Amino acid sequence: MKIEMVDLKTQYKKIKDEIDRAVLDCIASAAFINGPQVETFAENLREYLKVKHVIPCANGTDALQIALMALDLEPGDEIIVPAFTFIATAEVVALLRLKPVMVDVDPQTFNITAETVQSAITAKTRAIIPVHLFGQCCDMEPIMQIAEKHGLYVIEDNAQSIGAEYIYSDGRRQKAGTIGHIGTTSFFPSKNLGCYGDGGAIFTNDDKLAEKMRMIANHGQSRRYYHDYIGVNSRLDSIQAAILNVKLKYLDQYCKARCSAADLYDEALADIEHIKTPFRAAFSTHVFHQYTLQVKNGRRDELFDYLQSEGIAVMKYYPLPLNRQKAFQKFVPEGLKLPVTEMLCQSVISLPMHTELTKEKIEFITEKVRAFFLKS
Ligand SMILES: *Cc1c(COP(=O)(O)O)cnc(C)c1O
Repeated sequence: MKIEMVDLKTQYKKIKDEIDRAVLDCIASAAFINGPQVETFAENLREYLKVKHVIPCANGTDALQIALMALDLEPGDEIIVPAFTFIATAEVVALLRLKPVMVDVDPQTFNITAETVQSAITAKTRAIIPVHLFGQCCDMEPIMQIAEKHGLYVIEDNAQSIGAEYIYSDGRRQKAGTIGHIGTTSFFPSKNLGCYGDGGAIFTNDDKLAEKMRMIANHGQSRRYYHDYIGVNSRLDSIQAAILNVKLKYLDQYCKARCSAADLYDEALADIEHIKTPFRAAFSTHVFHQYTLQVKNGRRDELFDYLQSEGIAVMKYYPLPLNRQKAFQKFVPEGLKLPVTEMLCQSVISLPMHTELTKEKIEFITEKVRAFFLKS
């Protein structure tokens, strides 16, 4: 048996008729740019997230960049980011001549916390970018409190957790990406809500920020050929919006399928001494963008090679923290200590996770993991 990290082919086959019709209609209409599908999708996503504004754009990295561009920041202003994330989160900060300040994460959730953020706040701090990693929210309530206390913007990088819900201490629920001043997401094909190419979106409840970000995404235009801001060209194609309109209807079902797969993994791996299955925080639902284990006995790389040799795709998300990336060296202060991030980069391994994982496949994978630890 050969098992891939994701299976978008089987997922497509199940909704092929709907998708094909939507794509062909779009082509026939020839409204490839800013077609009605884009507005319809923005409206549908707005309703799904219960947020005031959804601004579609070209990808999740652009979404972060446009969000930062809207905040009137000065070169050298400090933006707090997790050291344990995909590069895009911090890359856009550096690109805009701002300063990424990397902070450590929680060993259970892999996310930044109010505590790890607190220690990094200086007089130059302007914003925090919490990343809801692997499908679970950061603990947003204390993060928002700290941000308010210090007058900081919060941009949620929600590329991996669309559909997840944050649960406040009073039980109230709010969709990930709609809690901070701005939220961003990616529709990269393998994300929980993926299109068939590149795509992204920005969310906000702030009317002024929404208007400005809409303009920035469109060359800073207030009306055609009148430019109020330096902007970018970042659009969601009509064909991608048409596909997303179909797939959004299935997002909750897809999240459920991922959760069921995670439950089966948990059950089969619970009693293995040297691995830690994903933590499930009380303050968030989990939509399992990744199913990530921690290997506690220093044998992560050995397990990685073994599973690959058995035909099972696995990934190290992430093998190298931001503070060890060559491109980021000038942002790493001397003596920076990020013990949890360092430990995670050495010990995490992500197993196949997607909407089409069958019980048989999970049994095959978990048998191999068990064999690795129990026989040697
Ligand atoms: C995927 C991802 C992005 C970037 O999304 P793109 O659409 O590939 O530009 C940003 N942040 C995180 C955490 C991601 O996982």
